[in-house]
Amino acid sequence: MIADLQETRWTGRPGYPVRTMVGLCLVRSLYALPTWTRVVALVADHWKLQRALGCEGKPPSKWAVYRFAAKLRENAPMVERCIDEVVEGLKAKLPSYGTDLAIDASDMPAYANGQRYVSKDSEVERNWHTDPDASWGHRSAVSTRRGGGFFGYRLHMATCTATDLPVTWTVETAKAHETRFVADLLDTAKRRGAMAATAALDKGYDIERIHSECMERDCLPLIPLKQTPDVKRGDHKPPCCEHGEWKFAGSDRKRGRSKWRCPTGECAPASTWVKADRLHPLVPRESKRWKAAYRKRGSVEREFGRLKHSFGLKPLRVRGLDRVRLHADLTILTKLACALLKARTATSAKPRREARRGLPKRSPPRSGVPVRRQ
Ligand SMILES: [Zn+2]
Repeated sequence: MIADLQETRWTGRPGYPVRTMVGLCLVRSLYALPTWTRVVALVADHWKLQRALGCEGKPPSKWAVYRFAAKLRENAPMVERCIDEVVEGLKAKLPSYGTDLAIDASDMPAYANGQRYVSKDSEVERNWHTDPDASWGHRSAVSTRRGGGFFGYRLHMATCTATDLPVTWTVETAKAHETRFVADLLDTAKRRGAMAATAALDKGYDIERIHSECMERDCLPLIPLKQTPDVKRGDHKPPCCEHGEWKFAGSDRKRGRSKWRCPTGECAPASTWVKADRLHPLVPRESKRWKAAYRKRGSVEREFGRLKHSFGLKPLRVRGLDRVRLHADLTILTKLACALLKARTATSAKPRREARRGLPKRSPPRSGVPVRRQ
């Protein structure tokens, strides 16, 4: 990304090195600072940070940083390509990364006032908000916080359940329904080289469209059943005969059907193939495999928590969809870059340890003196 951005700077003022400015983006998320002004103040105070960023003695001004943020927004495809490469790098180092996904959405309250009326006792409705891209959405209760409406945006994210790391994400206005973005998230995950073999989603996503979108992308959906009229009627139950309820006997992924068998095998066709749909998924909801895989859905919730509380995803101090998107992209990019660095140092340290095994002991026995093992 640094090289790409350097090329866009062939004219105009020389400015700060692009590496310094990209480094500032990392500093912001690592220290969980909400605004660029605070980041600049921190760097100005600490010579060690200046040395790491390559700007010792001349820290960038806040105006330079805001100009750079604008540049990143204009060159959004470059940021996207950078994220793609980091994800591909992680995939190369962590083979299990991106196989089993957990998808969910989380609220990001806007840095704006979403009041409906012009003033407290007024009857006149506002026709304009400080953040015109934000909207009212619903969030569920968490701990002691009540569920209800909030004004702002929603972060839709797919994380890997094995490593707890984000794979794909998108920021949309709060009123956009969460089920509209699952297909895009899966497509982007595939583009970035993730396998996306299964996807665990909560009850809110239990509609036929999500099931078929996942199946079209060769991804098994794991979604609990919502009490819709057909479920109340009992349409989701397995076939049944006088010998009792039929047993699950495996699925054929290519045909998109699962086999169900008579418990005693006395019926004339002893088994039948049922086409996969929302009511009869290829991994039955009562199976051990489904339960074990669905339990890992918590990974996405933990990741939302970490991003919001330790990486500065919250509170938002920018307005407008493109600015909020850049904020989320840079925050998650920092998180992934840290993970990539960790994975690379972990794997590069291994050969050294193995090489030491072959070396002689620290204090070799003196020549001529026989050594007897105790
Ligand atoms: Zn039977």
